[in-house]
Amino acid sequence: MPFSDSIDFLIIGAGFAGLVAGQRLASAGWKCVVADRRSHFGGNAHDAIDAAGVLVHRYGPHYFRSNSQRIVDHLSTFTDWHSVEYRIKSFTEGRYWSFPVNLATFEELIGRPSTTPEFENWLATKRISFPEPKNSEEVILSQVGRELYEKFFEGYTVKQWKRHPRDLDPSVCGRIPIRTQRDDRYLREEFQALPKDGYSRMFERMIDASPRLELHLGTDFKEALHRWPHKHLIYTGAIDEYYDYRFGELPYRSLRFEPESFGAEALVVREPISGKAGFWQPAMQVNYPDAAVPFTRIVEIKHATGQHVAATTIVREYPADWKRGDEPYYPIPAPDAAAAYAKYATLAAKEDRVSFIGRLATYRYYNMDQVTGMALTEADKLLRRYGKPS
Ligand code: FAD
Ligand code: UDP
Repeated sequence: MPFSDSIDFLIIGAGFAGLVAGQRLASAGWKCVVADRRSHFGGNAHDAIDAAGVLVHRYGPHYFRSNSQRIVDHLSTFTDWHSVEYRIKSFTEGRYWSFPVNLATFEELIGRPSTTPEFENWLATKRISFPEPKNSEEVILSQVGRELYEKFFEGYTVKQWKRHPRDLDPSVCGRIPIRTQRDDRYLREEFQALPKDGYSRMFERMIDASPRLELHLGTDFKEALHRWPHKHLIYTGAIDEYYDYRFGELPYRSLRFEPESFGAEALVVREPISGKAGFWQPAMQVNYPDAAVPFTRIVEIKHATGQHVAATTIVREYPADWKRGDEPYYPIPAPDAAAAYAKYATLAAKEDRVSFIGRLATYRYYNMDQVTGMALTEADKLLRRYGKPS
């Protein structure tokens, strides 16, 4: 039964931010409506079975990882986990490389077996000293020097962001680990796993567990605002859009996803390349740093999900300029963008009955676990403020 009278919390966006906060508030007895303009929930973490029968991440690969036991415990209420050690490759100069940079990458570079001390000595002669790296170029040069920076980072970053690494915060390229041992996992965090039955199933359980939460898809913010009088608004969309672009548009980077599926027969032919029956490429993700290649990466998520299915699907990811109406996939972590956002943040700080959470509303290049943490913290703050429903 749809709620008829006024509600307690109106939540815009059914991604991690909106659903985690909504579930928490609804479980405390507050009446919540979550509205999303898309036709599905889950935001950019949405996954679904495609026409070939393969479970795919519709908006690019979403590798769950976290160092926070509190966040993992919270999500574990709604899902079991499929443990994955995320491993990828880089493809440049006509061959696959072990990536992120580790001892195997060095061995591939010099064409013979090596050791950690030898690699460390080599790096010591290559590193360029920046005691406090100020941008993404300095953060990589200070760890591996120019040769590996140019091979793996410079071209990829310019392609992805349409900005030079020196015009991006250190945290962008600094996300990628550099190791002198053989550990070739793409991510650093302690907990690395995917929701066992996928993200959509996890969100479905979150919604099902919340009778006081009502979800309305295909519903835009303006329509929802008009339709549901409320006590408090939680907004997880883009902050510049919320304020009708009063100070102009914030910069974003967009993407175009190009999926391609292959049946079992086509894969037999690819087998020597993929190295594994039933797969198209040798890893769940292959990065393409070369400027001449128009996409940044090819993702074959079946490697990570562990789904048993004969077909496979790969997705090529093409970076794209953002204009109003496109999906603003990435806020841009750079000083000029932060200054532009600060004007909107000042307005947001003055709001009494509106909370801004999530990647777009706080203009932060945040991972899913960080957004989950932010949503839980905000929900707890609101529970303290409003107490118990009467
Ligand atoms: P979103 O998922 O963007 O959800 C916001 C929702 O609000 C959307 O569904 C949108 O339709 C809706 N909305 C916006 N405006 C309005 C409006 N005006 N009216 C109605 N609805 C509106 N994180 C990781 O941890 N690991 C990864 O490997 C990873 N990979 C990523 C790869 C890509 C290509 C991208 C783009 C992101 C990746 N992320 C990853 C980040 C992850 O997607 C985010 O941390 C997370 O999805 C943020 O959740 P959110 O709820 O803040 O935002
Ligand atoms: N990066 C790079 N080369 C790579 C992989 C990443 O230069 O092979 C840089 C690039 O700037 C990228 C950033 O590191 O945007 C973060 O990479 P990640 O794979 O974490 O990006 P995301 O999955 O968030 O798009």
